[in-house]
Amino acid sequence: MVIHLKNTTPEATANEIGQQLQASRFKEGDHFVLVAPFALKSLPESISQHVEASWPMDSDIQLASKSYKNELRSIKWGNTEIGGKTQNTVVIAGPCSIESWEQIESVAKLLKSLNISTLRAGCYKPRTSPYTFQGLGLEGLKMLAEVRRQYGLNIITEVKDSSHIEEVIEYTDIVQIGAKSMYDQSILRRCGEIRKPILLKRGFGTTLQEFVQAAEFILSGGNPEVILCERGIRTFETKTRFTFDLCGAAWLKQHTNCPVVLDPSHAMGYAYGVPDLAKASVAFGCDGLLIETHPNPKSAKSDAAQQLDFEAFTNLMTHMQKIAGAVGKQLI
Ligand code: PEP
Ligand code: MN
Repeated sequence: MVIHLKNTTPEATANEIGQQLQASRFKEGDHFVLVAPFALKSLPESISQHVEASWPMDSDIQLASKSYKNELRSIKWGNTEIGGKTQNTVVIAGPCSIESWEQIESVAKLLKSLNISTLRAGCYKPRTSPYTFQGLGLEGLKMLAEVRRQYGLNIITEVKDSSHIEEVIEYTDIVQIGAKSMYDQSILRRCGEIRKPILLKRGFGTTLQEFVQAAEFILSGGNPEVILCERGIRTFETKTRFTFDLCGAAWLKQHTNCPVVLDPSHAMGYAYGVPDLAKASVAFGCDGLLIETHPNPKSAKSDAAQQLDFEAFTNLMTHMQKIAGAVGKQLI
């Protein structure tokens, strides 16, 4: 049950009501929002006198649900807006990992030339094997900060575990929570306390219900800026890296109020399939796309098989512009 208290309600009263209802509570603008794990048919007078509005939902999906807020959340960073009333399809692109200054600077120049505002690159990589490249860590974050300063790009990078979450929060514009970290409640709760957009990736063995519940951890902590990212799930199929769940993405669009970003790179796992999937994603009407590109994919230290070289990425942008125009969207 979601409850908006009147803006005259003192904090102590909000806390008392919150405890009575076993509710999460946070401040939104000038009023408190409570989210109780159950719905009451009628609120006792001691509570109702403080209530501005209430949504008697009894579900694990509340704040992210269209039954609570029907309009798509608008999330902004720098001059970029995703969701809300826009028809934007926001392209987020860059290498899987930052590997060197030369590498990331070449990507920054490419993005600038294509009018793309947001650069992705991992510094702490959640690798499947402990014996492969684990990322440049803090050194990488510092380079990304320098890219932001020199090229005016916004940065998204991933938090892998709670040991470096404060660093990532400090250095990045958007925090990415990866598929493998999506269940880490210390990360989810910390991301609920901050005011930066969070791009939450769906785990590859995660149901849509579990995915949105993870988003609820962030939203009920008081951070309204959650973007959901479909990046492929594991099925019986082994010829592609994962299975791109567009049905799931359609469900998210229908039932949740969070912008949906699609990531064909990690879903496909092979560069040859990424352009067609990216074009299909634009036609699908996603709010954003996450695409990996690298100056020399063959030499990439992570996800080498799926990253587009600059030529393929530049061609793809031209095609996606046309498709976006045809479906009434604006590729930015
Ligand atoms: C990534 O974005 O490079 C990444 C590791 O993605 P995922 O968490 O979806 O595997
Ligand atoms: Mn990757």
